[in-house]
Formats: sequence, structure tokens, C-alpha cells
Amino acid sequence: MKFLLTCLALAAITFTGCDKIKKTLHLAPKEPVVAATPTPVPATPTPSPTATPRITANRNAGVIVLCYHRFEDINNAMVLKPADFEKQMQAIQDNGFTVISMQDFLSWRRDEKEIPVKSCLITIDDGYVSSYETAWPILKKFGYPFTMFVYINYINVGGKAITWDQLAEMRDAGVEIGCHSYSHQNLKGRSSKSAAEIKQLTYQGWLRKELADSKKVLEDRLGIKVSTFAYPEGAYNEEARKMVKEAGFEAAFVTYGMRNGFSNPVSDMIGRYAIEAGKPKTFEVAMAMIGGGMGPSMAMNAPTPSDLQTATSNLETTPAQGATVSEAKPLIKAVLSSLGAVEPDSVQMRISGFGVVPAKYDDATKTVEFQITQPLRDKEYTVILSAKVAGKKSESRWSFKFDPAAAKP
Ligand SMILES: [Zn+2]
Repeated sequence: MKFLLTCLALAAITFTGCDKIKKTLHLAPKEPVVAATPTPVPATPTPSPTATPRITANRNAGVIVLCYHRFEDINNAMVLKPADFEKQMQAIQDNGFTVISMQDFLSWRRDEKEIPVKSCLITIDDGYVSSYETAWPILKKFGYPFTMFVYINYINVGGKAITWDQLAEMRDAGVEIGCHSYSHQNLKGRSSKSAAEIKQLTYQGWLRKELADSKKVLEDRLGIKVSTFAYPEGAYNEEARKMVKEAGFEAAFVTYGMRNGFSNPVSDMIGRYAIEAGKPKTFEVAMAMIGGGMGPSMAMNAPTPSDLQTATSNLETTPAQGATVSEAKPLIKAVLSSLGAVEPDSVQMRISGFGVVPAKYDDATKTVEFQITQPLRDKEYTVILSAKVAGKKSESRWSFKFDPAAAKP
């Protein structure tokens, strides 16, 4: 009987259309709305009639992430001119991307929310005041959400640095604040600038400071939950990745661009395109990474040279097409789900300089991968994938660059 009354009460409240009450119900769905009696709460929770049906994420969507730094009207390879930034913001729209918020991205990866098939995340690193003074007004004009990745030692130091007050203002306006370490030193810990601290704290202790303590400072100073981390210089190793998890980050970002899918890459290796004035091609590559006007149904039966290129842009690959890797033994990977019914035994991977490699194909995840064991030496590699789809052989290829110095400044 009490259950029935609760249902009626909840239904009545729902139909009043009062947003405030609905919000309260969502925030605390298990709290009794009808005056509580001292009887203990039943072990099985009462299903709430107002619970929204669970939304399953659209797993075929893709996300590109853009990474910016400074915005000034000067000629410097690392600094983007405001007018160029504004043009790019327009191009994002013109290329059919929807700029989504970091929280929507995370919800999607948790399988809780749908996002547009061509989605884009905008991130700004380091905490230059030009993010606040120059980029923000432009982003506001387009109504784009974005994320600031700041590092503790640079906040409030004067000069070109952002202040805590400015960050708080951004936070209040809904800007996502992410963590970019304490000192901005390469997390591999080999810089002479971090040597003294590592000696004092040990490498593990120093990593904890760079990841967990810096997160805590941001959370404490701004009263927020910090969910994301951007590796300084895009550099990481296994210890740093472990600390990312230990510190409780939901996602961490590197600086080689790729199409980020629903479950690939793993959450502590989300790819970003670093947009710099000195590398004007990067933005174009990013814009071409998803769709390119062709839907994912563009299968690779009877490929022609131009089809091959388009088909590749529909594959989730690691490394991404055109990306530069610094690891000598990278994992080569592609998700073939966009191709249709691939015959598992027919999947073959070739790598320039290696020939056919013993790649593993997992039909459950439609993922083919090969761990390079012999260190890379060439500047560029091409990966060629072939497979039978519905009885026809199809082929796809992509290339990536190798530069051992790529992750260094
Ligand atoms: Zn940085």
C-alpha cells in the first residue's frame, strides 16, 4: 500500500511539471518523498517511476580532440593568432563537427549518453592568460564548451599566467578545469629540473605529487571534481599511467592525434591534435579524421585508390593516420567494425619494412593488433590491412611517422 501511495505521489509531482522538484528527485532518487515512518527501509530498493530509461551510447561515434596553448597576435610557431583561431572555430562547424563538453565525452565513454557521430573536444593547455582574455570570448561567440588543462606552479605567477580568480570565473561559467600536473616537467622524470625533487621524494613520490597532489590542489582551490589529466609534453610511461589511475582520473590525454572511439583507445591514452601556428597541416588532418563526407557504411569492397583512403579514415587506428609516434615498439591496432562482416580468418596485417606480421584478430571486438617487437628505425611506416568482407577481398592502408624525439620539447 505504501508503495502504491509513493507511486501516486511521485506521478502527481511529475505531472505538475515542476522542474525543481524533478531535479530533486533525480538527485536523490531513493529518498522517500512521502513522510517517512520509522519502519526500516526495505532491502530491495523501490523502482522509481520517474527514472529515465537508460540511454545506451552510440558506439559508432568518433571524437577528435584539439589541443591549444597560446593566442597572441605575434609570429611564433607555438602561438596561434586570434584570427586564425576564430577561422578554425568556424571550420569545425563547417566540417559538420559538434563541439561537445568533456562531461558529455566522459558520459559517452561510460555508456550513459549519446553524442553526435562527428564530435569534437576543445582543450587549452598550460594556463596562459590569453586562454581567458582571447580564446574564451571567441569560444563564447560559437557557444563551444571547452576544457582548460592547467598546472599548479604557473597559476598566479604574473606575466602571461592565468590567475585563480580568472579560473574561478571560468568554472562558474561552466568551463571544465582539468589537471596538467604540478610542475609541467616530463613525467618520465629525466629532466634536470625535476632531479632534486625526485631525489627528495623518490620517483614514485614525485609522480604522486605531479598527479594526485596537483589534482587535489585544483579541487581544493576551485571546489570542483577534477576528472581529467593531460600529460605534460604528451609524455608518459607505465608508472605515470598507473599513477593516473591511482589518482582517480577518469581520462588522460596524450598529444598524438587520432579518432577517439567508444572504447578505443583506452581512457588514459585519449589522443589530441596539438594545433600550433608552425604546423598548419595538423588542423586539416584533424578535420578529415572523421567522416570526410562519407558515412561509416563506406565499406571496402572492390577498393579503388581513392576509396582506400576514405575507408582508412573510417577505421579507428592506432597510431592514427599521419600521426608521429616516439615509442620504438608501438602497438599497431585497428578496429574493423565499420567494414561489416569481416571473415575472421582472412584478416592480415602487413607493415612496411616488416612484411606480414603475426597480428591477432579478435572477432568479438573487431580489433586487429600487433605489438611491434623489433624497434622501429624508419621515419615513416605504412600498415596494410586486408580482409574478406562478404566474400570479397578488401584492403585498407594508413601510415604513421616515427620520431624518437617527438615527445620531447
Ligand atoms: Zn603543457
